[in-house]
Amino acid sequence: MNTVRLKLRSFTLLYIKGRALSAAPPAVTSSSFPPRRTVFQFFRTMATTNDCNTPETRPPPGLKKAKHKEPLRRVKTKENRGKRGDVHGPSTVYLQVVGAGSRDNAASLYVFSEYNRYLFNCGEGTQRLMQEHKLKAARLDNIFLTRLSWENVGGLSGMILTLKDTGVPECVLSGPPQLEDYLNAIKSFSGPLEEIKLSVRPYTAESYTDETMTVHQVPIFADLRPDGRKPSPKSAGSSPSRSPASPGRDGVHGNSSRGDGRNDRRRATRDNSLVVSFVCKLHPKKGNFLVSEAKALGLPVGTAAIGPLIGALKAGKSVTYEGREIRPEQVCTPTDPGPVFIIVECPSEEFVEAVCSNQQLSRYQTGATEDLAALVVHLTPESVLSTDQYKRWMERFPSTTEHLILNEQVRTFHNVRSHKIQAQLNVIHPDIFPQLKSYQSTEAPAALLVPTVRAECLLKFQLRPVMEWQREAVPSCNTEEFVKEASEVPNFLEEVDKCRKICSADGAELPGKPGEKHPEVVFLGTGSALPMKIRNVSGTLVNISPSQSLLLDCGEGTFGQLCRHYGDAVDDALSKISTVFISHMHADHHTGLLMLLYQRERALTTLGKAFSPVYLVAPVQIMTWLNQYHDYCEEILDHINFIPNKVLVGGGEMPKQRTQSFIQALLKENDLEKFQTCTVRHCKNAYACSFSHRSGWKLAFSGDTMPCDAFVHAGKNATLLIHEATLEDGLEEEAVEKRHSTTSQAIGIGMRMNADFIVLNHFSQRYAKIPLFSGDFDDRVGISFDHMRICFGDFKTLPRLIPALKTLFAEEIGEMEGRREKRELRQPRGSAFEGPAAAAVSRGAKRHQQEAATRSDETKRLKSS
Ligand SMILES: [Zn+2]
Ligand SMILES: [Zn+2]
Repeated sequence: MNTVRLKLRSFTLLYIKGRALSAAPPAVTSSSFPPRRTVFQFFRTMATTNDCNTPETRPPPGLKKAKHKEPLRRVKTKENRGKRGDVHGPSTVYLQVVGAGSRDNAASLYVFSEYNRYLFNCGEGTQRLMQEHKLKAARLDNIFLTRLSWENVGGLSGMILTLKDTGVPECVLSGPPQLEDYLNAIKSFSGPLEEIKLSVRPYTAESYTDETMTVHQVPIFADLRPDGRKPSPKSAGSSPSRSPASPGRDGVHGNSSRGDGRNDRRRATRDNSLVVSFVCKLHPKKGNFLVSEAKALGLPVGTAAIGPLIGALKAGKSVTYEGREIRPEQVCTPTDPGPVFIIVECPSEEFVEAVCSNQQLSRYQTGATEDLAALVVHLTPESVLSTDQYKRWMERFPSTTEHLILNEQVRTFHNVRSHKIQAQLNVIHPDIFPQLKSYQSTEAPAALLVPTVRAECLLKFQLRPVMEWQREAVPSCNTEEFVKEASEVPNFLEEVDKCRKICSADGAELPGKPGEKHPEVVFLGTGSALPMKIRNVSGTLVNISPSQSLLLDCGEGTFGQLCRHYGDAVDDALSKISTVFISHMHADHHTGLLMLLYQRERALTTLGKAFSPVYLVAPVQIMTWLNQYHDYCEEILDHINFIPNKVLVGGGEMPKQRTQSFIQALLKENDLEKFQTCTVRHCKNAYACSFSHRSGWKLAFSGDTMPCDAFVHAGKNATLLIHEATLEDGLEEEAVEKRHSTTSQAIGIGMRMNADFIVLNHFSQRYAKIPLFSGDFDDRVGISFDHMRICFGDFKTLPRLIPALKTLFAEEIGEMEGRREKRELRQPRGSAFEGPAAAAVSRGAKRHQQEAATRSDETKRLKSS
């Protein structure tokens, strides 16, 4: 019954949106609101949703209520506004920078009005930033994309999954026509996405109007080189030369399914000559009625008679009161006709001519036929800003136009919470928790002819009520403050001191090879489900030697993490990665792959090294996604030599000759004796892996799994086991339901494997700062944090850090233990389902409510993590 009602609400929302549209100002010429859902589709979706809500997966009642409160409120507000006929311009509108265009956080912008929320571009990490800075994704009405490049759309798949999981009924995407294909490509791992209605409004649908503004899409076509290569504005020099028939070309298709004709046809649809600019015009806003002026003129303020008078005056009409004519300007501020802002991406020099000569954009410049632009947002690299043509084009806007620039020249901190926790952990051990770095562009800043503003994370440009820049929200990132805060935690410094003494005593005892820093493991993402402010999703870099690296899983934002870990040395780190293992097709394990591959190509170019594809060891299903993305969106297959996970399972099928040669090359490249995989107990086609180095060490990586015998066998006698421990002890039932392991189960696997050392990772985001420890932690077990860096010589040290860690996070541990106690009181151990609603009962403070909301999203997503 609840489901039916919910779907009816979704339906109402669509209907009301349609009505609001028809009441839009007459100035709007055309509108292409997405086709409304038919009654048939509505019932079909309803049926599907009912299928999904089996008793096993249905969240507890409290959760359901919380989950759907927001959309309902929105529907009601819009309905009321419609009834009042109150469809005119919003009174508060601002544009806010999310990602400022740095190398680790691609440009994205959030636009807020009291009626609507919009996002312009959605690169990897956008969702994480929105979560950290409390910009609610669930309130988004529209996402606009300027170009189909991974930089702009890398975070969209994760964003859509989150919107779906939070119960957002629909999402409209505007921009390049390949968005449709992009969505089809992500369905290869997300499933059918029927619970959310996704519409694409291609650039050919000229304008869109809602309660806040009218958005015109302005397509801009560049005259690109005929080879169809992706423009590479941000990499130095030209692309590395490689054979068009490089080995990755066929992927798993073998020789049969990718005929030349098909490839040509698809290349034609992979058109990267288009960028879409967006011209946004706010609806006019009637002036405010000035009560004191009205009183002074003797109008009947405070009586029923004033209503019609205000209505007429605000509508710009003069009124006669007690024989006197009152003109609107005497008692009302002037009508605001509605400012215009323009978002324009000019990704490379090849687009400069097309942007600068575009007639639609020039209408908003000096001598214009339309309103002058109040703000132009340039998603434009420095190399483009430096061209005379672009500089002159900027100058043609009136002097009142503000210019905001987003590119790699920005100097701003985005992931402040990540910096904070790292600065505090760094106090405990500076080598294991190194300070984060940032990548700084070496390009000289362009000498521009007009004043401009460089983007900063959360910088706002307010369009209404007053047009102004607002910097209050820009986060500060003061390492000294963070350290001071940690030092004020009771007993923390004492514990750190103890820890240091023990470690240095250990150091004296160890026979030790000082300098023995490899293999080195860098944990880039240690959280599950979806990227969150403190823990990003799966990604572990294994630096086998100073020149060889291998990556285990590559969730969204893995490249950003690498960037913040290595700073200016990120190109060097990328250039060493020869091999990527993807355990399974959940979004938290593989959606960062494309960014990693594109950035690796850029790194090789920058360093003047020859390009070579990576060995991609992954489930064969990944090729459906990559092939589709390659065919319709951007070239990617040349970046990989594919080895299906299944051919590395011991006793599995004999690989084809070509795959055999890749396996041999992978082993040689990494100095490995063996690389094997095994299927694990998680979703379909989920794998763990283990590999042995010629020097004798062995590493085993679980991917996501319940305790698994095949993995115990594959990882036998590993030097290091990296095992997922998604949930705490006591949540065994939830672990079975979601097919993950608890802490003790993971440790148990390590014991049976006879691993020298176990590091736990893939923690549920409910354990953002630190997981709960179980009784069986001993000197062979450590926990991971994002950006933790260890070599095998640190195994002895890791358990020594635990008392200091427990002290630093005593408050969080206390809260988690409190929740566990309450849960155990409520439900006898073993039958517990720790729903977020239940947990919420034990928490009152606002911060905890926010965390509960976060956890409810995360708990839903855990099913597919
Ligand atoms: Zn996962
Ligand atoms: Zn998973």
